Amino acid sequence: MPSVPALTTLLRFWGTRGSISVPEPGTLHYGGNTTCVEVRADDEIIALDAGSGIRCLGIALEKEFQSEPIRLSLLITHAHWDHIQGLPFFAPAYDKKNEIRVRGYDGVEMSFAEIMAEPMKAPFFPIAMRELSAKVDIKKLTEMEFCVGKVQVRARFVNHPGICAGYRLFTSAGSIAFLPDHEPYRFLHSARANGMTPEQAEKTAAEERIALVEFLRGSDILILDAQYTDTEYESHVGWGHGSVSSAVSLALAAEVRRLLLFHHDPSHDDAKVDAMVDEARRLVRENGKEIEVDGAREGEEVVLSN
Ligand SMILES: [Zn+2]
Ligand SMILES: [Zn+2]
Repeated sequence: MPSVPALTTLLRFWGTRGSISVPEPGTLHYGGNTTCVEVRADDEIIALDAGSGIRCLGIALEKEFQSEPIRLSLLITHAHWDHIQGLPFFAPAYDKKNEIRVRGYDGVEMSFAEIMAEPMKAPFFPIAMRELSAKVDIKKLTEMEFCVGKVQVRARFVNHPGICAGYRLFTSAGSIAFLPDHEPYRFLHSARANGMTPEQAEKTAAEERIALVEFLRGSDILILDAQYTDTEYESHVGWGHGSVSSAVSLALAAEVRRLLLFHHDPSHDDAKVDAMVDEARRLVRENGKEIEVDGAREGEEVVLSN
């Protein structure tokens, strides 16, 4: 059973890095593993994405549960490697007493089940998905609102190449918004795919921004893509990721309580991420607001209680 009381929500960060894991002395503080966040709330264990960080989550769960079964729901935002590559190394998936529900949306040209099976196909991996001994239930999501036990979840497609969801989890102790990969709408990915004119793209981008602000409004915690400094972003427009000022701007507009900068760039060491957090805090102060800002850090625990 979860080790926290029912009205407390616990977050643990198992991977905060974007793109590729970077195990280096200079990344020890914020961590080198790719995306995985654990949420314990209302008697549920929910993992957000299965980047390389999910391997360590698996080890911790096995240590905690020992001979007891592990019941876990895994929500996947999208199919990029840094969000799914850890699943073949998630030890609880190899134990028949465990139940793992895996949920996410179909991609542009691939079903959700195909996406999840892909990293475990020969010749890329020696064990196929169907050989996992746990009860692994992989189903695509078709609705934008659903429940994981008592936790209500709302989803929204964000601005990232291909299909990419953001999730907002409503727990009894507060809400958590998780947008690990998202680019400001200034560059609209769907405009290219749908052949929009520049005017149509500008109008759609403005509407999407308003809808996203409403989706995030009042979140207790916003975990948000802030991969680039503002200067770096200028040479990475269209890559699918956000900048420090775009993350702060969204957090301010949505009046969230706490902003956690996420999807740290593989080329950024701890000192660089520290500087980006300082810059984000400065921008918040400059706007006369009191949003708490930090960089999401591997190994960190965040408790929400009401
Ligand atoms: Zn990513
Ligand atoms: Zn991505």
